[in-house]
Amino acid sequence: MEKIKMTTPLVEMDGDEMTRILWQMIKDELLCPFVDLKTDYYDLGLEHRNETDDQVTVDSANAAKKYGVAVKCATITPNAARVKEYDLKEMWKSPNGTIRAIMDGTVFRTPIVVKGIEPCVRNWKQPITIARHAYGDVYRNVEMKIPGAGKAELVYTAKDGTQIKETVFDFDGPGVIQGQHNLESSIESFARSCFTYALDKKQELWFASKDTISKKYDHTFKDIFQEIFDREYKEKFEQAGITYFYTLIDDAVARVMKSEGGFIWACKNYDGDVMSDMISSAFGSLAMMTSVLVSPDGCYEYEAAHGTVQRHYYKHLEGEETSTNSVATIFAWTGALRKRGQLDGLWDLARFADNLDQACIDVIESGKMTKDLALITKLEHPTVLNSKEFILAIREELEKHYA
Ligand code: NAP
Ligand code: MG
Repeated sequence: MEKIKMTTPLVEMDGDEMTRILWQMIKDELLCPFVDLKTDYYDLGLEHRNETDDQVTVDSANAAKKYGVAVKCATITPNAARVKEYDLKEMWKSPNGTIRAIMDGTVFRTPIVVKGIEPCVRNWKQPITIARHAYGDVYRNVEMKIPGAGKAELVYTAKDGTQIKETVFDFDGPGVIQGQHNLESSIESFARSCFTYALDKKQELWFASKDTISKKYDHTFKDIFQEIFDREYKEKFEQAGITYFYTLIDDAVARVMKSEGGFIWACKNYDGDVMSDMISSAFGSLAMMTSVLVSPDGCYEYEAAHGTVQRHYYKHLEGEETSTNSVATIFAWTGALRKRGQLDGLWDLARFADNLDQACIDVIESGKMTKDLALITKLEHPTVLNSKEFILAIREELEKHYA
C-alpha cells in the first residue's frame, strides 16, 4: 500500500526504560509500515537530558507550542537513586513538570474501555475523563504546628504597605494551621483548557468545588469558570450541543457514581489527585489510562499515564521475557496522529488512528492480551502474550483494515 502522508511534523518526545523499548517497537511495527511518519524528534531519555543540561526538555516543549501537537514517551523523574544510577550532574526536574509549566496546560486522563475489562461501577458505560488543576492549593501550602495558646492570623501586605488581616483562630492550646494560595491567572488557564478540551471531545464538562464552605477561595474558582464560560464559550458549547455545569464536590461524587460516564470532570488540584486514582482503579488498570496535556490556546501533548515500567525493564535487560502493556502508549500516538490529521485536514491519517485504536481493542476483546490485563479480565482462558507478540497481534489486526 502507499503510505499515508503527513504535512506537519509531530513533536516526538522519546523517553526511558521499558517504554522506550515499546516506543521503538510501536514505530517499527505499527506506524512506519503504514504512515510516512514525519516527526520533530527530541530524545528525553535521561542520559540525553543530562548531556544537554535538560535543555532538550525545554526545546521539546517549545516545539510542542510551535507545532501544536506532541507525543511523549514516559520518562524517569530523577530521585537520589537515579542520580547515582545514571551518574547525573544534577537531580533534573520532572520533564512533565517542565513541559506543563511551558505549555501552561492542564492534564486530562481517560481510561481506555474494552469489553472483558469491566469497570467496578456497573453503570459506567463510557470513560470518565479527569481534568486536574496542576497548580497551588495544598501542594504549595505553608504549614505550622502551633505549640500552645496564642492567636494565629492571616496577613496580606500590599506593595504600598496597607494590610488585610483575618484571625485564623484564637488557640487555647496546641494545634495546627495551614496557608494555601492560588492565582487567578492559573485558574483562568485551567478553565480555558477545560472548555477547549470539552469542545474538542464534544463532551459535557462538570466542575465542582466546595464553595458553600469556602466562600472566597473555592468561590473564586466557581466564578472564574462561569465568567469565562459566559464570555468565551457559551455559544460554542450550544453549537456543539454540549453543556457546562457546576455543582458541589460531594454532589458531583454522588452523580459520578450513578452516571453512565462519557463526560469530563474538572477537579481542583487535590480533588483531581484523589479522583484520578479512584477513576483509574475503578476502570481497571493504570496501563490502560491515556493522558493529554492541553494548553489554554489549544496545543496538545499526548502520553500514557503510567511510568517507564522500571521493573519490567530490568527483567528485559537480563534477557527475560516481559509482558508489558503498550496500549496506553499506542493511544498516545493515535491521539496525536488523529489531532494532526484533523488540524491538517488529512482524513486518511485520522482514520488510521481510529483503525489502530480499534485493532488494539479487537485484539484484547478476542482474548489476546498482556499479563496485567489477563489478571483482571472477565474473559475466560485469555492468551497471555509477551510485549512483542502483543504488538505483532495488533499489527496483524491492523493489516486487515488495509488489505
Ligand atoms: P510505573 O512505571 O507506572 O509502573 C508501576 C507498576 O505498574 C509496574 O511495575 C507494573 O506492575 C505496573 N504497570 C505500569 N504500567 C504498566 C504497563 N504498561 N504494562 C504492565 N504493567 C504496568 O511506575 P514506577 O515503577 O513507580 O515508576 C517508574 C519510573 O517512571 C520512575 O522513574 C518514575 O519517575 C517514572 N514515571 C514517569 C511518568 C511519566 O513520564 N509520565 C509517570 C509516572 C512515573 P508490575 O511490576 O506488578 O507488573
Ligand atoms: Mg495520586
